[in-house]
Amino acid sequence: MRVSILGVPVDRLTVEQYVERVAEMIRLGRPGRIITLNPEYLFKAVTGSPGLVELVNRADLVTADGEGIVWAGRVADATFPERVTGIDLMLALTRRATTEGWSVYLLGAAPGVAEEAAENLRLRYPGLEVAGTCHGYFKAGEEAAVARRVREAGPQLLFVALGAPKQEQWIDRHIDGIGPVVAMGVGGSFDVVAGRVTRAPRWMRRLRIEWLGRLFKEPSRWRRMLVLPRFAWLVLRTYRLERKGSR
Ligand code: UDP
Repeated sequence: MRVSILGVPVDRLTVEQYVERVAEMIRLGRPGRIITLNPEYLFKAVTGSPGLVELVNRADLVTADGEGIVWAGRVADATFPERVTGIDLMLALTRRATTEGWSVYLLGAAPGVAEEAAENLRLRYPGLEVAGTCHGYFKAGEEAAVARRVREAGPQLLFVALGAPKQEQWIDRHIDGIGPVVAMGVGGSFDVVAGRVTRAPRWMRRLRIEWLGRLFKEPSRWRRMLVLPRFAWLVLRTYRLERKGSR
C-alpha cells in the first residue's frame, strides 16, 4: 500500500514484501526502479527540487529508508511496518537472487570497491551470479559506455552506488536503454559490504540510533544532518499544526 509523506509517495511494505514485488517485476520481464527514500532526499525534494519529486513519482517502489521517514509516517497516521534501507534490501534481494538464478550488477563506489563487494557477496551467498562490476568515478563522456556495459552484461538486478540523488538520476537517464533490469540506488552500501566502512553495531540499530553511529565514524556527515531538525519541523507543521488549524 502506498501513502503520501509531504506529497511524495512511499510504499508501506516489509523487506520480504519488497523482494516479492521485485520477483514479480523480473517474472514479467520489465525494467523497474526502486528508491530508498531518506529524510535528506525528501526534504531537498519538497523544498525546491521538483525534479527530485518527479524521480520518486516515476519509481515502481519507494521504501521508508531512515528513522526520520518512519517517524514522519507515524505523525502522518501512516505507520510503516519497518524501516527498509538500501543495504538491507540489497542483501535480501541478493539472497533471493541465488535461488531464482538472477544475476546482479554492481555499479558505483571508488575503483576496486564494487569488485570487493561482489567477492564478499559471493562468499556470503554461494552460487550468486555477478554479471559485472564498474566503479562510480567515470566522466560524463563515459556514461554511455558504462550504460552499454550494463546492458551487455544483461543482469536482472542492478545496484547503483553513486550517492543520492546522483544514483537516482543515473537510473532515470538509463533505465529504458539497459534492458529489463530492476535498478536500485544503494548509497554507501558497497563500502560497507566490501568491509571498507563498518555499519553501526546491532544494538545501536535496535535503539534506532544507527545515524548517530554513522556520525561518529564519518563526522563530515554532520552538515548533511543539519536538515533533520528542519525536516522534523516541516512534518510537524504539516501534519499537526496545519491539521489542527483546519479542524
Ligand atoms: N560515489 C561514486 N561516484 C561519485 C560519487 C560518489 O561512486 O561520483 C560513491 C561513493 O564512493 C560512495 C557512495 O557513492 O560509495 C556514496 O555513499 P554515501 O554514503 O555518501 O551515500 P548517500 O548517503 O549519499 O546515499
